[in-house]
Amino acid sequence: MTLLSIKGLETFYGASQALFGVDLDVEEGEVVALMGRNGMGKTTTINSIFGLVRARSGAISFASKQVTSLRPHKIARLGLGLVPEGRRCFSNLTVLENLLAAARGNEWTVQKVGELFPRLNERRDQFANTLSGGEQQMLAIGRALMTNPSLLVLDEATEGLAPVIRQDIWAAIRKLKAAGQSILVVDKTLAELLPVADRCFVLEKGTTVFAGTPEQLTPALQDRYLGV
Ligand code: ATP
Repeated sequence: MTLLSIKGLETFYGASQALFGVDLDVEEGEVVALMGRNGMGKTTTINSIFGLVRARSGAISFASKQVTSLRPHKIARLGLGLVPEGRRCFSNLTVLENLLAAARGNEWTVQKVGELFPRLNERRDQFANTLSGGEQQMLAIGRALMTNPSLLVLDEATEGLAPVIRQDIWAAIRKLKAAGQSILVVDKTLAELLPVADRCFVLEKGTTVFAGTPEQLTPALQDRYLGV
């Protein structure tokens, strides 16, 4: 079943057009990578899905519902969980309080998040602003999971994190995938992102220029669309 479907998405910031026709879809149970060089429209696509910026034209449907005219909180309630770029948590709340504040439904619990990220479990009573960057990212993922999302969306899953911590994040993503969690993920480290992805979409100047499997995204295409 198609969980998320985006067709011909065009988004503007004021008079300046950022997206010129993005097409993307996520099937249930898939991990989909959203790729593209800096400024090509990945974050704008994600923010459009969540209603944080308004789509000017095109269609976004989630679980067969049109979401383009809904308000962000209504969209989130349909079962979309966002781990935003820059991992925003409540800095003056503890790890436990952050998780409980996000809780909705009962599939994901503090205990289950603690099993996925043992480091968070050890730091339950620590204030979020005292966590390392990697721990904050784990908390941001934990918070998104506490909302029991049908689709988990990670914008820059591992940006700025130490290699060891990055491996913890990818291991968690693999575990979630094995448990059937649908995931849309942006990350700059191709060598880590491609092996977990079932399919990838590449954006160039606000348009989808590639859709296919990681195998179909050949080194020549990677160089063309993603090379520096
Ligand atoms: P990065 O990897 O650098 O985060 P990205 O692929 O996520 O890049 P976007 O952040 O979506 O790209 O940016 C797409 C285009 O929209 C860029 O030209 C950018 O300058 C522009 N843009 C992004 N946010 C805004 C904003 N708040 N106001 C005006 N223009 C914006």
